[in-house]
Amino acid sequence: MATISATGAALVWFRRDLRLADNPALHAAIETGRPLILVFIDQRDRALGTAPGEAADWWLHGSLASLARDITAAGGRLSLLRGDPAELIPGLAREHGIAEVFWNRSGEPGIDVRDRTIAATLQGSGTKPHAFAGTTLINPDALLTGSGTPYKVFGAFWRAALRDLAPRPSLPVPQRLPMAATLPAGAALEDWRLRPANPDWAQGFHDRWQPGEAGAAQRLERFLDDALDDYADGRDRPDKPGTSMLSPHLGFGEISPRQVWHSVQARLAAGTGFQAAERFLAEIGWREFAYYLLHHFDDLRTANFNRNFDHFSWRSDADGLAAWQAGQTGIPMVDAGVRQLWATGWMHNRVRMVCASFLVKHLRCDWRDGMAWFEHTLIDADRAVNAASWQWVAGSGADAAPYFRIFNPVRQGERFDPEGRYVQQWVPELARLPLRWIHQPWKAPAITRQTAGLKLGAGYPFPVCDLAAGRDAALAAYKDMKTVS
Ligand code: FAD
Repeated sequence: MATISATGAALVWFRRDLRLADNPALHAAIETGRPLILVFIDQRDRALGTAPGEAADWWLHGSLASLARDITAAGGRLSLLRGDPAELIPGLAREHGIAEVFWNRSGEPGIDVRDRTIAATLQGSGTKPHAFAGTTLINPDALLTGSGTPYKVFGAFWRAALRDLAPRPSLPVPQRLPMAATLPAGAALEDWRLRPANPDWAQGFHDRWQPGEAGAAQRLERFLDDALDDYADGRDRPDKPGTSMLSPHLGFGEISPRQVWHSVQARLAAGTGFQAAERFLAEIGWREFAYYLLHHFDDLRTANFNRNFDHFSWRSDADGLAAWQAGQTGIPMVDAGVRQLWATGWMHNRVRMVCASFLVKHLRCDWRDGMAWFEHTLIDADRAVNAASWQWVAGSGADAAPYFRIFNPVRQGERFDPEGRYVQQWVPELARLPLRWIHQPWKAPAITRQTAGLKLGAGYPFPVCDLAAGRDAALAAYKDMKTVS
């Protein structure tokens, strides 16, 4: 076996941790005192989940551009490579005399297995691999019930997690990045064509989002200043900016959950109400729970967590699914949510629940179809959180919403969009309808619809399903499933 050269370089492999601050792998590499090689590898592997959907690709472009700028400002250079990391990383180690390789673990079982193979290959040829935790706050193997099994209920999981949770202080931004003399010849980001052109369907993304570490920090500060105090109530109002909108930043690792945690603790120390902070940190906790579940149940994305749902009679409804994907179901809250997704790459959590519930319950489409569509269209598409959330809504997940609790999208609209502003914004066909009818336009008298310039079936569709009948059919299917299972 070759000996490790004291003068060899340290390679840092950036993945979904596109930040300089609080980056354990980067920090440890700098601590070695070795010259650095910094790479990002784009691997288009859908099975492994390393190929984002097109909306997430839009984000990835911005995030990489931002990281590359920050690295250059610190005297370094980011090399962009494309290919199979299992070949590229050992190849780089050979060609560039790399002594040690550093990365942060993804928290995804499939990717972690692949990475362990890479680590073994490196070790076999005398290069030292180092993998760090950085995606989540919790080590999933260290948090188990008294009987040594994984938690399956969020409340118990989070209470147990909080008992010992004392994240170390965040790591500082490195001031200087001393680079190796020879760096891998990387691609130009533009050549990867991660952003659409002709047509640029992502035009609405540009004004709303600033991918990258600076954008993440600004988003967090703005949320802490303007919305945290009212978060317990504000988080449910899609018509108001009541949530942090940090999800794509967290998803691409432009900010770590540890940084978020410490920022909230600082606000608590400065007088922010405990209830608001607790509520917000519990959402970070739900993210932790999703990663925890995927770690312990690695088929979470493909199989029903509750196996009774293997007997559920999902419908194959291509027309219903297509109407849902197009924001043309005729149900205003559902269509508003999907259109917000199309226009901005993001959807409010309350509306995600309403849209998902409509698809899996009223239309009885399989949750895996909805999950796949979200993965394709969300800028914050996250394989752990998306799977756990769809299973939660479908009733098949861990600690899921009971199947028989079926969201009524009209009531949800009246309750959480009480002035109809969210629907008005995203479904302009309904903008002139009086508030009383905005969440159920099909019930408005013909004369009212006419005055509002609304032609059902022409300008805006009739509902693709009758809500009461859809609900009854869903409950009947659930009852059948219970009988079989
Ligand atoms: P905030 O309310 O400000 O919450 C702060 C952070 O906590 C979020 O950024 C996110 O990281 C985490 N978080 C919040 N709510 C949840 C939740 N219910 N479960 C897990 N983590 C949460 N979130 C994703 O990041 N990626 C997804 O692919 C995704 N798919 C979803 C699919 C469905 C069907 C549903 C119902 C929810 C999904 N969520 C997903 C969770 C949630 O909707 C988003 O995280 C949230 O809307 C992001 O907005 P925010 O950053 O303003 O959230």
